[in-house]
Amino acid sequence: MQNLLALNWKMNKTPTEARAWAQELAGKLVPGPAELAVMAPAITLSTLAANLPAGVAFGGQDVSAHESGAYTGEISAAMLKDVGATYVVVGHSERREYHGETDAAVAAKARQAQLSGLVPIVCVGEGLAVRERGEHVAHTLAQLDGSLAGVGPDVVIAYEPVWAIGTGKTATADDAEELAAAIREALTTRYGSDADDIRVLYGGSVKPDNIASICAQPNVNGALVGGASLKVPDVLGMNDAL
Ligand code: 13P
Repeated sequence: MQNLLALNWKMNKTPTEARAWAQELAGKLVPGPAELAVMAPAITLSTLAANLPAGVAFGGQDVSAHESGAYTGEISAAMLKDVGATYVVVGHSERREYHGETDAAVAAKARQAQLSGLVPIVCVGEGLAVRERGEHVAHTLAQLDGSLAGVGPDVVIAYEPVWAIGTGKTATADDAEELAAAIREALTTRYGSDADDIRVLYGGSVKPDNIASICAQPNVNGALVGGASLKVPDVLGMNDAL
């Protein structure tokens, strides 16, 4: 399966900064075997569409659960699709924590994304207290189950342990594989052989020097990267390592 290197800029980069980043990438990228995708603030996506090198995909970081209408401030899946997005992140732990998104809300967003032909990148993962109680597998699988209600198999899953996000504490390759394997088994139970094509990413303090060992795990098919996505040299380093 082709690895996916998904870059989550979070709330960083203006359209002007996004243009400079995309042009720098276009000048330096030597495409490798991995697929690259930039998950960017919605207001930068048209700029990315015009400036990213050919073959680099992009997408949003959130999407409305509604098709259209009186939902001030929301961005619809059709809008993302119209500017050329391929993917959209749903259920990132920061949305779950700061915006109260439940598994049911995440599933509704993922369903809406699929109706418009977007591939949702559904995020799951446990916090530190859950990990310390040893309940990380059960917790994450329950989250996955709720977040995939009614969602089809054209999906990407990102396992992001909250304690490893932006902290410099990376899960070990074995930790990532433990959950990726459990997630894959759950996906096979849910989707049968269609699960064979679903990529399971790891996210949390991924950088050029640790991405290779994490993505070499049999059930890990790429990474969702925050901090190290902001500077082009780091992105090139990760792309080269895959
Ligand atoms: P960091 O790579 O900054 O730890 O962020 C991970 C993340 O949340 C990606 O979605």
